Amino acid sequence: MNASTVTASPRSQDEFLGHPKGLYVCFLTEMWERFSFYGMKALLLLYLVKYHLFSDSNGYNLIGAYGGLVYAVPVLGGLIADRWLGMRKSVVLGGTLLCLGHFGMAFEGAQAVMVNGEVVRDDDALQIFYLSLALIIVGVGFLKPNISTIVGRLYPDNDPRRDSGFTIFYAGINLGAFIAPLLCGWLGETYGWKYGFGLAGVGMVAGLINFVWGQKYFHGHAEPSRPEVLREHVLPGIRREYLIYLGALLGVGGVWALIQTHSVILQLAAWLPQMSPVILGMHTVTICLLAGIFWFMLKDCSQVERHRMLVLLVLIVGALIFFTLYEQSYGSWILFSDRMMNRQAFGVEWSASQLAALGAMFILLLSPVFAWLWPFLERKNLNPGKAVKTALGIVAAGISFLVLVVSIRYPQANGLAALWWFVLAYFVLEVGEMMLSPIGLSAVTQLSVPRVVSLMMGAWFLGTSYSEVLAAQLGKLSAVDEAITGVVDTTSAMAGYYDLFELLFWVGLGCGLLLLAVSPLLKRGMHGLK
Ligand code: GLN
Repeated sequence: MNASTVTASPRSQDEFLGHPKGLYVCFLTEMWERFSFYGMKALLLLYLVKYHLFSDSNGYNLIGAYGGLVYAVPVLGGLIADRWLGMRKSVVLGGTLLCLGHFGMAFEGAQAVMVNGEVVRDDDALQIFYLSLALIIVGVGFLKPNISTIVGRLYPDNDPRRDSGFTIFYAGINLGAFIAPLLCGWLGETYGWKYGFGLAGVGMVAGLINFVWGQKYFHGHAEPSRPEVLREHVLPGIRREYLIYLGALLGVGGVWALIQTHSVILQLAAWLPQMSPVILGMHTVTICLLAGIFWFMLKDCSQVERHRMLVLLVLIVGALIFFTLYEQSYGSWILFSDRMMNRQAFGVEWSASQLAALGAMFILLLSPVFAWLWPFLERKNLNPGKAVKTALGIVAAGISFLVLVVSIRYPQANGLAALWWFVLAYFVLEVGEMMLSPIGLSAVTQLSVPRVVSLMMGAWFLGTSYSEVLAAQLGKLSAVDEAITGVVDTTSAMAGYYDLFELLFWVGLGCGLLLLAVSPLLKRGMHGLK
């Protein structure tokens, strides 16, 4: 639906701290959704390699396939909401699937064992695990893009509070992402995986209850654009709405089958590169989306609109590069900190999954600083444009890997890397995220033609889905597959992490500087927007 055709009218009696109450409903829903998402994510790789005895490489393959799909499906979730279902119903559907998925994850079955050098796994439990991941993937696909669009709908078109509304919403995301690894990671690694995953499920139920209770504060702005179409009987006796729910369940079945192929490689033709079915699915979505966007740009856009959309596509590629580096914090950084680092601080040995909370913690601490910094620089006429901020964000991500390289170069007396270097690496990475991610979301709503803003939001998340796959592939460069037997050669493992981190430092620095070099051109392409 066209965002510009909806004019929200926040009633003053329905405001709290200067924002529509609906914002806080979205804040809390997304806080709980991200609590369950990141709580599960912090445990996922460790659970695979320690409980189901996946090799590092297969663990990376699976988290790559999961991450790729979980950020590709929002393109469809956004489109279906725009065309038929509306945002409110989509979020309820997504939230319900998410609750089922997170509780399914709590069923861990029997632990894998080594028998005569072969790993014997509980295949039934793994099927429930794959089904749970599929429910989560489709659930996120319906929930994530649409809850963000609801935030936008709460403000009239040119309401100056919109940006700060999104900043508050981003803090909600990171509040959930901060608490989750601490609680779920601690429960999962200390008492049993199922308790960590189960708590993630409890969080999602809280999110869904909060949303259903608070939906009255959206005042109809998240309803289907054409309810009569939704009521139409498409098949005898079946309304379109129920057909969509049925389709979502079929989609879960399809993803269930697809996610299991994470290690299968296909080659459709001799001249085509080999790829997994998941990547093939993502490429198909991307080709259709890009064809649609370019067709729209050629047919329906003025030259100024076309230039702005092109700039947005470049920024999405920038975000793709940033999140490829960033996602190491849920992959190689987790295994590195688990195996190669002294995790003692303040008299506590922190678990690797708990340390994943550092990222969101720094976002929460840095948010007010950046909320102050940009207007301050603006007043001094020094506020950099969105392209420069994106480029600097990528450079910062690169530098965070340099910090880890230094931590390996100068280990403690026991040969392990020191925790405080790791904390510093997270700090630098999150300075980068602050410069790139909220700015990017704002750029999507600013640079895209209003008619296709949801689609471009989908494109933004699709960029992230490639990041997840690339991150997993890069993570594999540091895989220690002998870890499955419990014997890790620390020197060669450390060398593997060193090489990967050094490579990603150069990738971040190189790509960031390249984007910085073309930023004057991008600035021109924005035609006066900042
Ligand atoms: N951390 C943010 C979130 O969870 C950004 C995710 C992304 O775009 N990769 O919403």
